[in-house]
Amino acid sequence: MNSLAKKIGVIGAGQLGRMMALSGYPLGCKFAFCGGSTDEPSALLGDMHVGEICDTKWLLEHADVITYESENTSVELVKGLAKTKPVFPPEKSLYVSQHRGREKALFDELEIPCAPYEVVSSLEELKQAVDLIGLPAVLKTTTEGYDGKGQFVLKEAAQIGEAWNTIGNRELVLEGFVEFDRELSIIAVRNEQNEHVFYPLVQNVHHEGILRYTIAPAQQIIDSVQEMAEAYMGKLLDELGHVGVLTLELFETNGGLVANEIAPRVHNSGHWTMEGAETSQFENHVRAISGMPLGSTKPRQTIAAMINIIGEEGPSAKVLSMPKAHLHLYDKSERVGRKLGHINLLADSEDELYEQIKGLSEYLPS
Ligand code: AMP
Repeated sequence: MNSLAKKIGVIGAGQLGRMMALSGYPLGCKFAFCGGSTDEPSALLGDMHVGEICDTKWLLEHADVITYESENTSVELVKGLAKTKPVFPPEKSLYVSQHRGREKALFDELEIPCAPYEVVSSLEELKQAVDLIGLPAVLKTTTEGYDGKGQFVLKEAAQIGEAWNTIGNRELVLEGFVEFDRELSIIAVRNEQNEHVFYPLVQNVHHEGILRYTIAPAQQIIDSVQEMAEAYMGKLLDELGHVGVLTLELFETNGGLVANEIAPRVHNSGHWTMEGAETSQFENHVRAISGMPLGSTKPRQTIAAMINIIGEEGPSAKVLSMPKAHLHLYDKSERVGRKLGHINLLADSEDELYEQIKGLSEYLPS
C-alpha cells in the first residue's frame, strides 16, 4: 500500500459505501464493511463482516480509519471505536445530525437562518407550540425521520389531535412552514489539515418525500448566495470539527436561504459529482478521512443532472445508448420506493439537459 492510502472500515454496506470504495481503490485504499447481509451493494467490494450489529473487534482489525454511511449509526458505537482508531465524521457531527432539535439549536447558535421551531413531548405542548408558531406548520419526529417519513403538515388547528396520534406519542419538533421557491443543497468537505472545499449549490426536486432528480449547479444562483451557503457550511464544519463530507439542505426563499437539515455523510444530491465534477464527493470523502489533500470541486461541464432510479430498474439499454448519460446501478433488487441506482447526465446547455431528461421520463414521476 502506498504511503497515503488507508484501509477504510465502513459501518454499513449500502450504495454509499459501494461508491466510496469505487472511488477509493484508484487512490490505493482498501475497504472493509460491516453489513447486515451478503446481498448488500458493498458486499463484493472489500472484506465484509455480516452481522445484525457491527462487530467492533473485526472492524478495528480490518481498518486504519473508520467511517459510516448513515446518520442513524449508533453514537455509542462510534464513541467506542474512536478510543482505538480514528472515526470520521466525528461523534459530534453524528450526535447533532441525529436530532432535529439539536440541529436547529446549532443553526441558531451559528446564526444560520432556519424555520421557527419548538420541540414538544405531549399533546398539550404541541397545542402551545401551534399557538407560538402559527399554521401552517410541519410536525416531524425529532429522530429517525428520512425521505419525508415521520412528518405531518398541519394546516388547521382541528388536525392537531390527528397529527399527534399519527406520528406523536414521542418527541416531535414543530416547524414553521417555509414558503420556498426551490430546494437546494450544498456539499462541503473538510480534512484534518483544515482544508475546506465546497461544491456548487444544487437544486433538488422531491416527489412524495423522495429525491427524484438534482440539477447541478442550480441555475440562477448569484455569487452572493453561493458565498452565503459556503459561509454557513464553513461555520458548521469548524464548530463540529467535522472531517469528511457534510451536506446542508436548504430552502431558497425570497428572503434568502433557510437551513433545513444536515447530513454528516456523502449525499444523494452529490451523486452528480461522479462524472460531473473534477473530484467526486466520494473521492473527496475518502481523501478527507485518509488525511490526503482535497480535490477540486469544479464542475466539468456547463450543467449536469442526476436522476434517481426508484423501484424499478427501467430502460437501462436506452440510458446506455445516450452519449452523455452515465448509468450507476447498486446491485439491489426491485422494490417499491427503493433507490436502485441513478443516472448522471452531462450537458453544454440547460436546453440540452432538459432534452435528455425528457427522453428519460420513465424514471420520473408523472
Ligand atoms: P425533511 O425530512 O426535513 O428533509 O423534509 C422532507 C421534505 O418536506 C422537504 O424536502 C420539503 O419538501 C418538505 N419540508 C420539510 N420541512 C418543511 C418546512 N418547514 N416547510 C415547508 N416544507 C418543508
